[in-house]
Amino acid sequence: MSAPFRNEPLLELRRASVRDELRGALAALDARLPLEVPVAIGGERRHAPVLDSVDPGRPERVVARATVATGADVDAAVAIAAQAVGAWRDAPAGERAAVLARAAGELRGRRRELAALCVREVGKPWPEADADVAEAIDFLEFYGRQAVALEARAELEQLPGERNTLRHRGRGVAAVIAPWNFPLAIATGMTAAALAAGNAALLKPAEQSPGCALALAQALERAGLPAGLFALLPGAGEVGAALVRHPGVHTIAFTGSGAVGLEIVERAARVAPGQRHLKRVVAEMGGKNCTLVDRDADLDDAVPALLASAFGYAGQKCSATARALVHERLHAPLLERLRGALDTLSVGPADDFASDLGPLIEADARDRVEGALRDAAAAGARVDRTVGELPDDGWFVAPAVVAGAPADGAVVRAELFGPVLSVEPVRGMEEACDRVDEQSYALTGGLFSRDPRTIELVSRRTPVGNLYVNRGTTGAMVARQPFGGNRLSGTGTKAGGPDYLLQFIEPVVICENT
Ligand code: GLU
Repeated sequence: MSAPFRNEPLLELRRASVRDELRGALAALDARLPLEVPVAIGGERRHAPVLDSVDPGRPERVVARATVATGADVDAAVAIAAQAVGAWRDAPAGERAAVLARAAGELRGRRRELAALCVREVGKPWPEADADVAEAIDFLEFYGRQAVALEARAELEQLPGERNTLRHRGRGVAAVIAPWNFPLAIATGMTAAALAAGNAALLKPAEQSPGCALALAQALERAGLPAGLFALLPGAGEVGAALVRHPGVHTIAFTGSGAVGLEIVERAARVAPGQRHLKRVVAEMGGKNCTLVDRDADLDDAVPALLASAFGYAGQKCSATARALVHERLHAPLLERLRGALDTLSVGPADDFASDLGPLIEADARDRVEGALRDAAAAGARVDRTVGELPDDGWFVAPAVVAGAPADGAVVRAELFGPVLSVEPVRGMEEACDRVDEQSYALTGGLFSRDPRTIELVSRRTPVGNLYVNRGTTGAMVARQPFGGNRLSGTGTKAGGPDYLLQFIEPVVICENT
């Protein structure tokens, strides 16, 4: 039996030697760009690269050039997966876990290079790029162990004369539609869960990050995953739509925007002619996350946690804090501290160890954020930004602290996916809970309070999937903080938790008269 699960340790980025290694890995990667990403199905690769992913900090640098999967590719991938999946489903979970553990080893061996790839392809600063790779490794290790644990679960009552057994069987073919913001971790997590539970996984990576997805494909291949159980199907929205529609797909695991998620849920509910199953959707969607700050909060804790939660990876995490709901007595001092702290943040290229924030993913994202800030200012809000110069090239945005934003404007209501923190006064934590409760998103939430009664009140009232008390709202760790939202933030399933694999399982109960 394998060792108990432990989170993959992060690199010690403070050490000069580690930084040198990472710079070396980046230089070696740069020399190989653009990476060529094929369509990969059943051990065959098709090369016709047309779709570029670029460095968002220097858009003229092409990081990967991907072949776009066609409808025929999707059909072929599903057909081959359907053939291959029977033997994989029936294999002992330990065998599946061993393949995933070897894939984890492959990623571990390329740790620095893959962090460099995240830096380049999606503009992630080093600490978060390193964490992305570590989380991908965690998912492979964790879900493999979970599959073994699930197989061993025999929790049925037995009476004399009958033997009851419960089998957890893979559902079949899973379509994995992955986001760019955790380009390795989330693509790997959804894929690893599907495979661990005895399914085939067909991955449609985000069009912004096919290069990172290629690394996963290579790791699975080198780990000896039987051909046909995984396919790499790069492309834009049509590829995902074709997978969702396909009658041969059993499960759809999606992480991305609310609009696309709702479309998937609706589309997957239709049963196509000849389809003999209901599709299941695992969806992880947006958030508009609030951190509550009560009158007894320690601002020395709250200020850095708010900065990290709102501005880490330039606000491009679903878990980011977008609104601080602050007890009216602390509102002015907290705002002053946050405004002051803005000047300590440095916005610059993701590959610079001194950068706190890198670029946004694309021009549209920058325009969306700047537009929302302009509208808020026009409506009378006070918008404070960092003052330092931004690089000329790339989609950089200065982080913003906004006070007095209109309650129905984008800064308070929309998921901006950028470095914007709205700071709003409340009379107390009951009122703050009411405000949170008005929202249709319910992904993460934060609370700063030293009073156990307040902590209990907010824990009871919060609709969110992940509530963090006296810390930031980002950075859920596999196995320690299973992650996922409620309401319109998702289907409520928790990635990195003990129940996640059940989404990919068809349970069968066998009762034998003995
Ligand atoms: N799991 C990540 C975190 O806790 C967020 C994932 C996402 O943005 O989808 O920060």
